[in-house]
Amino acid sequence: MPTPASDDAFAEVKAKVDLVKVVQEYVRLTKRNKDFWGLCPFHQEDSPSFHVNPQRQSWYCFGCERKGDVFTFVELIEKTDKRGALQLLAERAGVELKKLSPEQKERTDLRRRLLTLLKLAAQYYEYVLWSNPAGEPGRRLLESRRVGEETAKRFQLGYAPAGRGFAEYLRAKKRSLADAQEAGLMRRDGTDFFAERLVIPIRDERGQPLAFTARTVRADEQRKYINSPETPAYVKGRVIFGLDLARDEIARRGHAVLMEGQFDVITAHGAGITNSVASSGTALTDDQVRLLKRFTDELLLVFDADRAGRQAAQKAVLLAAAHQMRTRVATVADAKDPDEFLRAAGAEAAKRWEELVAKAPSGFEFGMEDAAAGLNLSNPNHVELAAKRLREWITQFPPALQEDYRERAKRWMGVSGHLLAAEPDERRATGRPIAPRAGKNGLESPSGGKKMTVGRYLLQLLAVRPVAFDRVRTKITPDELDEEDRGIYVRMLETYERGGASGLEKELAGYPAEEQDLVRRAWAAPPPNVDEEVAVELADRIRLDHMRGRHSGIIRELSEAERGQDSERVARLEAEARELGRAIADMERRG
Ligand SMILES: [Zn+2]
Repeated sequence: MPTPASDDAFAEVKAKVDLVKVVQEYVRLTKRNKDFWGLCPFHQEDSPSFHVNPQRQSWYCFGCERKGDVFTFVELIEKTDKRGALQLLAERAGVELKKLSPEQKERTDLRRRLLTLLKLAAQYYEYVLWSNPAGEPGRRLLESRRVGEETAKRFQLGYAPAGRGFAEYLRAKKRSLADAQEAGLMRRDGTDFFAERLVIPIRDERGQPLAFTARTVRADEQRKYINSPETPAYVKGRVIFGLDLARDEIARRGHAVLMEGQFDVITAHGAGITNSVASSGTALTDDQVRLLKRFTDELLLVFDADRAGRQAAQKAVLLAAAHQMRTRVATVADAKDPDEFLRAAGAEAAKRWEELVAKAPSGFEFGMEDAAAGLNLSNPNHVELAAKRLREWITQFPPALQEDYRERAKRWMGVSGHLLAAEPDERRATGRPIAPRAGKNGLESPSGGKKMTVGRYLLQLLAVRPVAFDRVRTKITPDELDEEDRGIYVRMLETYERGGASGLEKELAGYPAEEQDLVRRAWAAPPPNVDEEVAVELADRIRLDHMRGRHSGIIRELSEAERGQDSERVARLEAEARELGRAIADMERRG
């Protein structure tokens, strides 16, 4: 059982870290007078309203009104808790946290040792590649792949020679061989895990090596590539390969190029496409998308041209959409992957690349074209089949996008709308948690048979489109809602503040049953207009209704007070009623 950290630990860490430097790892800040400004990482915006005060070591966003100190910032941006933020910042500041449990401390120490060792290994391999005769096979492989020395050095490529060279190196440096095994660098017999391979460090977004991918230089070797195992320093699916090198260019160009393989990325950087990264070692994961979203809202997906590559691209499109990221998909023609495409283009690579990017359809269109590929749309049977596939494609997107996508699909295919209207059973097949029985659409069976009120409508809308909270929460307070809507409203708002737009899916299981039911029904059958403007309108109507209710309450009270001849109370209530009446009239005029 870990004991909570003392206030001392927070104070000590706070004194040692600089909020501006911490924020700058996530947000581009511009200095104005003594303060810093940037685009808020916690809400969507085009002009900077995120403000950092270096003197007070505090931050405030004028857009979403979030604020706090360095701990709250790290908590929000790393999606961790106060304790996690303390740990991250303590590590950064070199502050030893005294009250870690023995297991936690051991794990933290081990991780730190492994990270140092991984850095050392990368340096050793790089040294062998360029400065040791044993590195010759690695240099030949790079030459055959047309990877120039400058690019290779940027990625810190290296070569692991045969035998026990690395073990001897560690012994000379008086390092623990057991740690090297733990880090996945060495086998139990002391031989190098990556022997006779070109090694590619997999580094985090700050450039720290966490693991390696290694390609054999031997023609007779069956396993072309091998990867580091998961270790206390490396969790697969949490790292984006190349992000440390690409992050500035991603910010500059406004999008990241996401590829599949490490060599795709290396070749791309060599050809000047320096905003390229890869989902290293796995299919794209939720964590990786979240990491990328810290740097951009748009991904250009360039996957292999084969069927597996196209399927991977579709999955990535959906995953990105779930995180409100835009995608485009570029397909390399006459080549199996971007690496081959760019190498074949030679000196023309940059030009061919621009042509490819210019042609890239949006992720949604890409999936649409794929759904209709090979079908003849003048044949009615084929049209029906294509419509079915399109329906399946569309229903996998977040509900807020589906209506627009159905419209676009209709126009694109030239079919009538009913062919593309989702059927309840298909909705259920999308993998989203969905209530067993839902009405045909949001209007007929809005929320478990209860009559559709403005409050219910708003709750459904917020369930489908939680970002609308950003607008709504400044418009109404929970006590303006009907009593039966208040609990779920507050719960969803708290979830949103904690977990953002995707928080609801994660926390829903902990909601009371009838609230879960309302949310699931809304997901299954979204209300007709899922739009932030509509949410604001609804909030205004709720506010107005609440004010009218209060007004008639005061009038009732007033007649009571008059009967009781309580003149002081009468005067007070009259004033209240007048003021409220004016406010209502104002709202009605605007409304
Ligand atoms: Zn903000």
